[in-house]
Amino acid sequence: MVVIAGPCAAESETQLRTVAECLTRLDIRLLRAGVYKPRTSPYSFQGLQDEGLQLLHDIKRAYGLGIVSEVMSVAHLERAYEVFDCFQVGSRNMQNFELLKALGQVRKPVLLKRGLAATIEELLGAAEYILAGGNQQVILCERGIRSFDPATRNVLDLGAVALLKRLTHLPVIVDPSHATGRRELVIPAARAAVAVGADGLIVECHPVPQQSVSDAAQALSLDELEQLVRETARVAQAV
Ligand code: PEP
Ligand code: MN
Repeated sequence: MVVIAGPCAAESETQLRTVAECLTRLDIRLLRAGVYKPRTSPYSFQGLQDEGLQLLHDIKRAYGLGIVSEVMSVAHLERAYEVFDCFQVGSRNMQNFELLKALGQVRKPVLLKRGLAATIEELLGAAEYILAGGNQQVILCERGIRSFDPATRNVLDLGAVALLKRLTHLPVIVDPSHATGRRELVIPAARAAVAVGADGLIVECHPVPQQSVSDAAQALSLDELEQLVRETARVAQAV
């Protein structure tokens, strides 16, 4: 069971170092941190963009962590190619077909998130674009889908995780952070994801969650991340 953890967005060197030290202590080898952020409003923080690449490059070298980060365009892919170890395709770009075709040509893993309201068939079609290009390293990610009820940010589709495990040979991971949108629901959702057969988790955390520039309500504290690791490891052992 693989855990990918880190802040929604890279904000500063201090923030990244604090998180990287915690990940190292917890034996988590993959850091997530967005530098190109897909925000609903154009006036919200858009990520550190290219300036963030240097921060991620330095943190990767200092801590030996693999970097998982989002690209929204072919231009991002080209600029971030050396720094990112796994390219995240966010929900909003699941059907950005030109991006998917470009990712089919690379020889690094792609973490493909299910679209906000994408069917399983659409998700698998998107994955096929990457695979058809010759890149076999595709990881599917269930991150919750839209419903009528905003009480949870999205609805975590655990049935989809079980179904995807049957339909494909690809690893399937779960993002309990975007799926629930609420800090107090992230750990229970993560436990359920592991119980249903997810191969891993991608989770948001922050040294001072309330100060997260984006997605503050769902960011775990570093202590809570440790709790998540402990509890999900126990579930993984039991299944
Ligand atoms: C993210 O991982 O920060 C993100 C924007 O995720 P999603 O595309 O699932 O909303
Ligand atoms: Mn986020």
